[in-house]
Amino acid sequence: MFDKILIANRGEIALRILRACKELGIATVAVHSTADADAMHVRLADESVCIGPPPSKDSYLNVPALLAACEITGVDAVHPGYGFLSENARFAEILGEHNLHFIGPKAEHIRLMGDKIEAKKTARKLGIPVVPGSEGAVGANDDAMAIAQKIGFPVLVKAASGGGGRGMKVAQAAEDLMLALSTAANEAKSAFGDASVYLEKYLQKPRHIEIQVLGDGRGGAIHLGERDCSLQRRHQKVWEEGPSPALDVAARQKIGATVAKAMQQMKYLGVGTVEFLYEDGEFYFIEMNTRIQVEHPVTEMITDIDLVLEQIRIAAGGDLPITQDEVMIHGHSIECRVNAENPVSFRPSPGKIMQYHPPGGLGVRIDSAVYQGYVIPPYYDSLVGKLIVHGKTRGECLMRLRRALDEMVVEGIETTLPLFRALVREPAIIDGDYHIHWLEQYLNGQPAA
Ligand code: ADP
Repeated sequence: MFDKILIANRGEIALRILRACKELGIATVAVHSTADADAMHVRLADESVCIGPPPSKDSYLNVPALLAACEITGVDAVHPGYGFLSENARFAEILGEHNLHFIGPKAEHIRLMGDKIEAKKTARKLGIPVVPGSEGAVGANDDAMAIAQKIGFPVLVKAASGGGGRGMKVAQAAEDLMLALSTAANEAKSAFGDASVYLEKYLQKPRHIEIQVLGDGRGGAIHLGERDCSLQRRHQKVWEEGPSPALDVAARQKIGATVAKAMQQMKYLGVGTVEFLYEDGEFYFIEMNTRIQVEHPVTEMITDIDLVLEQIRIAAGGDLPITQDEVMIHGHSIECRVNAENPVSFRPSPGKIMQYHPPGGLGVRIDSAVYQGYVIPPYYDSLVGKLIVHGKTRGECLMRLRRALDEMVVEGIETTLPLFRALVREPAIIDGDYHIHWLEQYLNGQPAA
């Protein structure tokens, strides 16, 4: 096992990793920008190192500064969390070159899945169903129109290096295609430094269903069921739950077994998520995330497996904690991502939290790094915290969530709490009857179909 881990992240996920380290008896090193000197992860870690000024590129993405921090503190491993350097294959390799463990998958798998075109090709080879679309990148010499017509409109133009919903444009009909191609390519070029784009059939009313996996890197891999992340705004997840209201046991077992088998063949190492769109009883692979995800607590609540702790154990050479047959999914869990944003315009609302009262009671969990008097800096994501609720049934879970949302107090800044309080009372949500475009339609005041 590792003796000391450097946590190359901030906010709630840094705290989440710190908690797992404490339980394992591993010493922790926090890193922080000058804007985060008062952050909770810094206060609770055994040691801390300031790695640069506020902008992420000068601090949390600053590889030389991180390496220096590793050297000074004598850690043997680095946990990247999510975002920042978590899916940077080169970073994983550099750590290896310095005799440091990267707590994550093999660099080759990060690289492979980071390129969505290659990821789709690999998925297809491994027997995973994919969204119909172009064979590879659509270049200047390709007849994009002919490819799009073959797929059938509407089509979605997607960035090969995309992430966070950026570099994605819909072409409803033939006349929109050229504009969608050039806008997506430009956005992809400026966001990811890679202008390559590909085409996909644009699904009308799918759900976003993702399978959590855990692999030992030696050919052992299990799946831990699914999370339904269909409630999204601008392709960003807002509310996640598991099990999906749309799947039955047979459908879950079928897709889970397909994914677990693929991970065994790949010899995948650590935690990962294979993401699908699900429509009319069919699954379509869209991408794989090779890291711990924001919504991982949903799975933890219904399986009783500490994903971050297992991720660390497995990175240190440990075995899978249980076999597939021993995985027991019990009850229901929902996570709400409470952001520091205006609940109508979604304009970020950084600033000082004047009053803070997190909800409590049976089945209620808060993963957050804020406290009363904490100032949310304007430089990073606007997550205030994740409210995660568990119940024996979906009905009990919703009942508890309603109560917990009403109990939660965050004053001094604007938050998306009012949106969640409304959503938890919406008939379509209560019935579990929603799809990936539902939330945008609801927010636009359209009758969500
Ligand atoms: P990113 O890596 O940017 O998050 P994803 O490929 O994971 O991109 O897609 C994010 C979201 O965009 C999906 O959850 C879904 O809502 C939407 N999306 C992606 N592909 C399609 C598609 N072919 N049809 C309809 N919606 C899609």
